[in-house]
Amino acid sequence: MKDGKPCRVCTDFKTWSKIEKQNSKQPAHSASTSNSTEEQTSKMPEEEWRKKNCPADVETLGNATWTLLHTMAAYYPERPAPSQMESMKSFISSFSEHYPCWFCKDDFKKAVEREPVQVGSRKKLSEWLCRRHNEVNEKLGKEQFDCTKVFERWLNGPPDGRCD
Ligand SMILES: Cc1cc2nc3c(=O)[nH]c(=O)nc-3n(C[C@H](O)[C@H](O)[C@H](O)COP(=O)(O)OP(=O)(O)OC[C@H]3O[C@@H](n4cnc5c(N)ncnc54)[C@H](O)[C@@H]3O)c2cc1C
Repeated sequence: MKDGKPCRVCTDFKTWSKIEKQNSKQPAHSASTSNSTEEQTSKMPEEEWRKKNCPADVETLGNATWTLLHTMAAYYPERPAPSQMESMKSFISSFSEHYPCWFCKDDFKKAVEREPVQVGSRKKLSEWLCRRHNEVNEKLGKEQFDCTKVFERWLNGPPDGRCD
């Protein structure tokens, strides 16, 4: 809750549904769903339907955002030009102003102040981002990711070719 309003992108879907149901006796999606959409998707499992049709919650937004950030880092130049380093710094700074989950953004901003973004090379940027993601993993009680595997995960895929 910030400014007296609940924040959907700061909350997981189950918690959000509870808040919505407390505010209204109607299920959250029943009023705004058109018949044709309902017909097209009535056979989809509820969870899958939500993922494809509902506004993002903290988890879907986070997962999609990490995918974008790690992939950007994996495709960042190995030897960036000064202008590319500047624009990446500026991107990270804007990102940390505008990420819509406010407490995620505040913590990310503090992390960037503690350890400024490393834009000197693809490897430096990818490892820097991996450490930021691991800080969030730690906060959430999730496993630490092995940062030596960052290019396997986000650029090349595993050596056994499962992703080829
Ligand atoms: C900047 C930012 C801050 C966030 N802060 C919060 C918060 O404060 N509270 C909150 O509840 N949620 C936060 N989130 C969301 C949270 O990090 C997860 O995205 C969300 O919980 C969904 O998790 P997931 O299991 O889908 O995997 P995610 O954590 O989204 O990870 C996606 C994939 O990335 C890979 N991966 C995992 N760790 C790393 C790593 N260190 N380096 C490289 N790859 C990795 C794994 O293959 C994983 O499957 C934040 C997201 C972002 C982008």
